[in-house]
Amino acid sequence: MEQFKGQDILNFIKELPNDDVCKAYLAKIKWQDGFTCSKCGGTKGCEKSGYNYHCYACDHVES
Ligand SMILES: [Zn+2]
Repeated sequence: MEQFKGQDILNFIKELPNDDVCKAYLAKIKWQDGFTCSKCGGTKGCEKSGYNYHCYACDHVES
């Protein structure tokens, strides 16, 4: 998993209006190159609620 780098993104996150928007934004960065399950490494899943990902392979819900 890639760590977020730099102060820019931290400052940006602070300005986000609420937690959901923040999570959605983080999810977008996290999975900008495609979803990868942290449990099984699977890359097939579907997006849920805008910022969660449901892995088809192991049923893990990644947030
Ligand atoms: Zn999985």
